[in-house]
Amino acid sequence: MGFDDGRKLKGVYAAEVLRAKQVTPHMVRLTFGRGDLERLPQHGFDQWFRLFLPRPGGEATNFDIVPERLGMIDYLKFMTHGDRPPLRNYTVREHRPDLGEIDVDFVVHGDLGIAGPWAAKAEPGERVVLMDQGKGFDLAADASFHLLVGDESALPAILGILRDLPATARGLAIIEIPDMADVQEVSGPAGFEVRWLPRKGSPDQPGALALAELRSFTPEEPATLSAYLVGERTIPTEGRRHLVSAGVPKSRITFVGYWRIGKAQA
Ligand SMILES: Cc1cc2nc3c(=O)[nH]c(=O)nc-3n(C[C@H](O)[C@H](O)[C@H](O)COP(=O)(O)OP(=O)(O)OC[C@H]3O[C@@H](n4cnc5c(N)ncnc54)[C@H](O)[C@@H]3O)c2cc1C
Repeated sequence: MGFDDGRKLKGVYAAEVLRAKQVTPHMVRLTFGRGDLERLPQHGFDQWFRLFLPRPGGEATNFDIVPERLGMIDYLKFMTHGDRPPLRNYTVREHRPDLGEIDVDFVVHGDLGIAGPWAAKAEPGERVVLMDQGKGFDLAADASFHLLVGDESALPAILGILRDLPATARGLAIIEIPDMADVQEVSGPAGFEVRWLPRKGSPDQPGALALAELRSFTPEEPATLSAYLVGERTIPTEGRRHLVSAGVPKSRITFVGYWRIGKAQA
């Protein structure tokens, strides 16, 4: 299963906010439960979903029009509804199937946008709908080395991958964060190095530190490297360019732009 396979999955799950917790200065963790969450499949690693949110400003939101999956025709039809819920992409940080609960870590990035500002103030009882998209990370059985690179929006995905990789996996995780106080506890294979890159005080744009670190990485065995590059879009696009020029086959690089500086999701 990879990022593109999400569109083929069918399944929407109503849920509500159970709790909110500020985990680090720039990350709020919302725990969702009730509704249909006991049925949510557990894919592990960087399991992600489309999140349908309440409309901002307390406007009435029609969750009943959320389709079973988001093919092109379903999407276009969904977009014709004036009272449709806004839609964003998020990662399952932790899944407790026995309790029918998931934790989701939201980057709090200011007043712009919908999901970040909503999460910063979300109250227990607020309703959402999730559409399961599977996982994006595809475990390469022959990988000699795993390279995981991202920014704070990728933190839930990278920590989920580290949690679920085989204990014998070797690799390097490069994670850019706003501040050293945004570091989170890592549980992962012993043969992994995790490099945290705090942006605080750096004049560079988000993503620049992670990208510079990635560019200083030369794979010892490019043919058997497994690379996963996500976050602000320059990390995956420029990062992939670097790895390809270092001899890594394109098929061994998973890359997705999670967000874009100055551009809201549609
Ligand atoms: C598969 C996938 C999984 C994801 N998982 C997570 C996750 O678990 N946690 C998470 O926080 N994000 C995650 N993201 C990223 C998230 O979907 C985007 O950051 C999204 O744009 C947030 O929506 P918004 O409504 O807050 O902002 P938008 O309305 O999309 O954008 C408004 C403004 O905010 C800026 N902005 C958006 N996101 C950020 C950011 N992270 N940092 C700084 N500025 C930003 C934009 O550039 C724009 O100027 C994921 C994305 C994908 C594709």
